[in-house]
Amino acid sequence: MRLITTTDMCQLVRQIGLDEFNARLLKNLEEDFSRWEQFQLSPRHATHYPHGVIELMPSADDELYAFKYVNGHPSNPKQGKLCVVAVGMLADVPTGYPLMMCEMTWLTALRTAATTALGARYLARKESHLLAIIGTGAQSEFQVSALAGVCDIHTVRYYDPDAKAMAKFGHNLKGRFPHLTASKSTEEAVEGASLIVTATAAKCHNRILTREMVSPGAHIHALGGDCPGKTELEPALLDHAKIVVEYQSQSQIEGEIQNRPEAAIHAELWEIITGRRPGRESDEELTIFDSVGFALEDYAALRLVNELAKEMGIGQEISLIPDLDDPKDLFGALMRD
Ligand code: NAD
Repeated sequence: MRLITTTDMCQLVRQIGLDEFNARLLKNLEEDFSRWEQFQLSPRHATHYPHGVIELMPSADDELYAFKYVNGHPSNPKQGKLCVVAVGMLADVPTGYPLMMCEMTWLTALRTAATTALGARYLARKESHLLAIIGTGAQSEFQVSALAGVCDIHTVRYYDPDAKAMAKFGHNLKGRFPHLTASKSTEEAVEGASLIVTATAAKCHNRILTREMVSPGAHIHALGGDCPGKTELEPALLDHAKIVVEYQSQSQIEGEIQNRPEAAIHAELWEIITGRRPGRESDEELTIFDSVGFALEDYAALRLVNELAKEMGIGQEISLIPDLDDPKDLFGALMRD
């Protein structure tokens, strides 16, 4: 069984390069969403607390079984801790034996951003040059980096009430984008934007974006609303948009649509990718990807890391499963030297 630590993940991404990693992950995601019906899927198991959530997220086809342990604690950064941390595992379905244990804090940020890029590929206007990102915490730079792989972004506007988070974002992306503009408010950041990402963290029904703020033809990727009682968009905005979700039975509990149960959901993303439902149909329509994070995305990401780690010789073999000459002599192997 291979162990991929945080050090291994850094080595892997730096060695292959962030842009190449993003491209390979996007490809894996698109492949796995395209064969949606081959998977055993279920909404994640979420254990809620007043200050956060702890979740288990499984998904499997006939070859590989993946699951992730992940949290969401919006007030963690005040204690010097990440809002979201995760670990994951990939197992061999024919035997049930684990193949890989993997850090998934970075991998979750990478797969969340790749999912944003996949949504934008089908839902954003072709000439989406102005990206606004609201919330410049841990996920934010990953979002911009992945979107740049599918959209010809000329300008990135960003806003966060935390000046330190704003400065960090500007510093990390300096030189990667020609026009990086710090905005003084969400209104200023999103004015005229064709692509908007909301990546904020607060355990409340927020109204980060209202209908008045958003231009016709914009594509909104709302990823910070991912729990009951934790949303980002004014509900009225949903009434005027083509709404796409990952997995309806999970999204209706956790997504923006929890505030508008009667809202018409246009499609699950896989239906658009496989051509069963149309994506964007005009330059004027408002599209919203109400993303909450789905287990299939973790499957695609773990599958990629497993392939790359083998190719590149990254990670170490660890013993977490007894290796026995006689599989019936579990007791004897424990008691003998
Ligand atoms: P983070 O705590 O590092 O950053 C969140 C940022 O939002 C902070 O900098 C905070 O100042 C800012 N913010 C809070 N209220 C705001 C407001 N009103 N306007 C603008 N900015 C505001 O968190 P993170 O790890 O970057 O995660 C961001 C969000 O994305 C969280 O809610 C997390 O649960 C969610 N998330 C979703 C997915 C998914 O797949 N959909 C995956 C990972 C994380």
